[in-house]
Formats: sequence, structure tokens, C-alpha cells
Amino acid sequence: EKILAIETSCDETSAAVLDGGTRILSNIISSQIDVHRKFGGVVPEVASRKHLELINHVIAEALQAAGLCFGELDAVAVTYGPGLVGALLVGLSAGKAIAYAADIPLIGVNHLEGHIYANFLREPDLAFPLLCLVVSGGHTDLVYIAGHGEYRVIGRTRDDAAGEAFDKVARTLGLGYPGGPQIEKAAVEGNPQAVMFPRAYLEEGSLDFSFSGLKSSVINYLHRARQRGEAVHIPNLAASFQQAAVDVLVDKTITAAQEHNVSLIMLAGGVAANSLLRTELQKAVCSSGRRLVYPSLVLCTDNAAMIGCAAHFKYIRGEFAPLTLNAIPGLRLGECRY
Ligand code: ATP
Ligand code: MG
Ligand code: FE
Repeated sequence: EKILAIETSCDETSAAVLDGGTRILSNIISSQIDVHRKFGGVVPEVASRKHLELINHVIAEALQAAGLCFGELDAVAVTYGPGLVGALLVGLSAGKAIAYAADIPLIGVNHLEGHIYANFLREPDLAFPLLCLVVSGGHTDLVYIAGHGEYRVIGRTRDDAAGEAFDKVARTLGLGYPGGPQIEKAAVEGNPQAVMFPRAYLEEGSLDFSFSGLKSSVINYLHRARQRGEAVHIPNLAASFQQAAVDVLVDKTITAAQEHNVSLIMLAGGVAANSLLRTELQKAVCSSGRRLVYPSLVLCTDNAAMIGCAAHFKYIRGEFAPLTLNAIPGLRLGECRY
């Protein structure tokens, strides 16, 4: 079947066409990074307006690249949460209009489910149960997946998301926006052992995360050094911060896999693009006798192909949404709001 997928939950306007769920016929991603850069972060109202300007063009381009017209589609899928409500509504309205006009089913997809399913674009037949570390701009979750669509969040951040910490630390270090890739770049020239930043493991046995202490500690270190008039080595701070964040992410993921008896581990979300996280987790997973899967770089950050892949498995189950589907900014994984 051919599914048109639409993603507008944050600052990427994206549309994709998938054949049979895992064959990407097109995946157009129009990033608003340049628009938001001057504000140092995503401005919700600006994002909505930008989505509105771009959405029809992006959809037309996705269809054209796939060589299809609306009449040849079997379903249209759209992200309906979590995300910025004004941004979500743009994609949702477009999806509903297409579903109505072409008389095809509408499929509502959870954005985080999309991130997870980016892994199925790499390997369609991954065997359950699976453990997924979702690390993105707004989430840091350890998810136990018993089967398609069956999620249990067994650990989550209690404050900042991993990506948020990367972005805030980068801003303090004057590295620009978005912060994750900038930290990674700066860290290449730095010594990860230069500063021993705190690793928050929380209470014994907890699979939760906390990144605000680490973030504050980098910020305080920088301010104190500047007050004393000491020179700061930005690459060393970037490398030390990155190492501290990755250490905790890797350790907790391995512990979760052991406790829940899972041998196949997946990485998902924007921070899954981080090469230190990919290599360190790969090493730890291998030496614990398990296997790691992660999406290709473009499919880690926001895109519509991952939404189309998640939608395929809902299509098979006949999970269609009514045209009254609404945007749910705080939608949780495993929750269905239609
Ligand atoms: P969510 O998916 O939780 O709704 P989001 O969609 O805004 O949030 P994503 O697009 O999945 O987040 O990921 C963006 C985040 O990934 C940003 O915080 C960004 O800094 C981070 N990121 C991207 N590339 C890297 C990298 N190479 N290293 C570390 N972080 C990265
Ligand atoms: Mg984004
Ligand atoms: Fe995302």
C-alpha cells in the first residue's frame, strides 16, 4: 500500500511517501533552523506560520518525487502529538483535507512512535521484545516494546531532555543553535576527561534520568571561570559534558536491558545522531552480548518517513482516525486519543 505521511510537530515541515511501510519513495524535509536561529530556539508562533507557508509545497514535492497523485494513495498519515499545538494543527489540517478529498483513511501517529519506527526502516523484521532509548529535543525515555504498538515507558527524564541539555549547554558555551551537532563538533577538539561533571544516576535501581544538574554544573563552571578571569577551553567543556551525558545514557540502557531481559536494543530521536552515543552504546551493547540497531542519520531527527513507517503497522491493524482528530500537544506514548 502507498501512504503519504506528514510531520509538522516542531520546526521541520516534512512529507514522505512510503510503499509497503518500509520502502521510502520520497522524504522531503524542509527545516526551519535558519528562521529560528536568530532567536536561539524554536519560536512556536513563527513555526506555525512557516509550516503554513511550506506545507502544500512540501506535500506536492513528496508526491512528485514518488511519481504519484492523490488518487493513487491508500492512506494519509499525520503526526497529531506530542509537539507544538499550532505546528501540529497545520499538518493535521492538511492530512484531514487530503483524506476527505481523496476518500482514503486517515491515520494519526504519535511523534515518538515515529522516532522509534525509524529503526524499522532500517530493519523491517526486528524481533520483539525490544528496548528503545528515545533521546530527542523534548524526551528521554527508555521504552519496553512487547509488540507493534505495545509500549511501556520504564524510565524517563525527571527534568530536562537530553537534547534540551545539549541545546542549553551549547547556547551557554556560545556554540549556536541547534546545540547537539555543535557540541559534537566542538568536542572533537576537546578532552572528555578535562572536567569531571556529575553523572546523575538517581536512587538505586532507578531507570529515570536527570540532566538539569549536569547542565547547571557546566553553566556554573563557565561562570566561575569567567569571574576569576580564567581562560576557558570550550572544546574541553563540550567534550566533558558530552561524555557525562553519554555515560549515563549508556549505563541506564544496559541496566534496563538486563533487568527486562531484552537482547535487541534500538536508539531513536535527534540525539541518536550523536556519534559518541552511537559508538559507546554499540560497544556496551556488544560486550553485554546484545545487538544494537539505530536509524540512518537523516532519519534520527524529525522527518515524515518515520511517521509513514509507524502508520503502515496501524494500516495493517485497521487503526484509522476519524476526521474529527485533534492535535494533542502532550500525547503520551501508547496513548490513543481517537
Ligand atoms: P521530540 O522528538 O521530543 O518531540 P524534537 O522533535 O524537537 O523533540 P528531534 O528533532 O527528535 O527533537 O531532535 C532534535 C534534538 O536532537 C535537538 O535537541 C538537537 O540538539 C539534538 N541533536 C541533533 N543532532 C545531534 C547530535 N549530533 N548530537 C547530540 N544531539 C543532537
Ligand atoms: Mg527539529
Ligand atoms: Fe522529534
